[in-house]
Amino acid sequence: MINDKSMETRNVVILGSGPAGLTAAIYTARAGLSPLVLEGSQPGGQLTITTDVENFPGFRSGVMGPALIEEMREQALHVGAEIRRDQAVKVDLAVWPFSIDTEEGSIRARTLIIATGASAKWLGLPEESLGEGGLYGKGLSACATCDGFFFRGKQVVVVGGGDTALEEATFLARLAEKVYVVHRRDAFRASKAMQERTFNTPNIEILWNKVVTRIHDPAEGRVTGVTLKDTKTGETSVLPVDGVFVAIGHQPNTVLFAGLLEMDENGYLRTFGGTRTSVPGVFAAGDVADPVYRQAITAAGSGCMAAIDAERWLGEQDAVSG
Ligand SMILES: Cc1cc2nc3c(=O)[nH]c(=O)nc-3n(C[C@H](O)[C@H](O)[C@H](O)COP(=O)(O)OP(=O)(O)OC[C@H]3O[C@@H](n4cnc5c(N)ncnc54)[C@H](O)[C@@H]3O)c2cc1C
Repeated sequence: MINDKSMETRNVVILGSGPAGLTAAIYTARAGLSPLVLEGSQPGGQLTITTDVENFPGFRSGVMGPALIEEMREQALHVGAEIRRDQAVKVDLAVWPFSIDTEEGSIRARTLIIATGASAKWLGLPEESLGEGGLYGKGLSACATCDGFFFRGKQVVVVGGGDTALEEATFLARLAEKVYVVHRRDAFRASKAMQERTFNTPNIEILWNKVVTRIHDPAEGRVTGVTLKDTKTGETSVLPVDGVFVAIGHQPNTVLFAGLLEMDENGYLRTFGGTRTSVPGVFAAGDVADPVYRQAITAAGSGCMAAIDAERWLGEQDAVSG
């Protein structure tokens, strides 16, 4: 079905202003497509809530997450992208141009790039708060690849029992002196191979049937240990550690697209050859379609791919408008 012509219609609408969305904006703006970015409720995305980023190429001494994303944003604006403080609340992909209802109104898009990211699942403890008094970024993390380096020679806890948790644990074991894996049950869900690798790593100790009920010590402004509760006996104990890595899964931000786009069993958007989704003209970039890598550089890389895919798709439809 073709939409009516009265609404604002854009060549490219990008949902999300993290590294994936802003990179897509830079590329599509430079391709003359005048993209519109809807920033969403977390302008700048996940990098705005971290401190040092030491693995993004081009910064030999590292860069602060908010500074890195601010540069990307300024670059996108500089090359002509439009960025709005608004978010999509409903999309209709059965019409073309696609229809997007936002908090401020409605827009039509000839192509849609979805870069809405994913959020780590947390334990639900007050110490995990992002605000003042929280230990997030002060020893508490959800990404060993990102933050493991800061725990060289230290003691850390990994919470979880799936493949991701054991991958995080074996990665951290190469850096940390000691890694405790805290798991609420007496068996892992992770694959056999991953379990064997974990059991064969000498500086990993598994603490079965335990849950973390407190992270110490907000008063000191850093992680100093955790309180563990035995799920069978109810007994509690304190384990002194320098870091806590929560690895109980991620939640992709895809609720808007339920029933509209193909997703995997965990809600990540499925892509088919590059960044194409199950609906022609709709592309997905970054963590929203990536249960595996979840890095700023891979998000930016797939934002570039989505921009090129969108530009070529528009060319195939002969549908670009100035
Ligand atoms: C604490 C922390 C530290 C990290 N450290 C590193 C690191 O050191 N190195 C590294 O490479 N990676 C790091 N990462 C991972 C990295 O931040 C992510 O991989 C990356 O930000 C993913 O980018 P993205 O653009 O896909 O999504 P995100 O950054 O998650 O951005 C998603 C965007 O989508 C928007 N959005 C959501 N819903 C809507 C909607 N309905 N409409 C419009 N917009 C919407 C949000 O507002 C947000 O702007 C870290 C992550 C965290 C949480």
